[in-house]
Amino acid sequence: MAKVTVDTGTCVGCGLCEQMCPDVFKVEGDGLAHVKAQECKSCNLADVAGQCPVSAIKVS
Ligand code: SF4
Repeated sequence: MAKVTVDTGTCVGCGLCEQMCPDVFKVEGDGLAHVKAQECKSCNLADVAGQCPVSAIKVS
């Protein structure tokens, strides 16, 4: 199964990942995206990672 991480030192809290896949990503009270779940049946997480403007999302 894919392992999804957000580098919170790099994330700028734009919210794009949460918009694209709210099942996996959530921008928390600290203003940074956090990973809630490791998979989503309807999203391509590699695609979400590719859209992050600062490349903070890694899918391995
Ligand atoms: S898309 Fe990238 S910069 Fe924007 S909230 Fe998600 S991880 Fe952070």
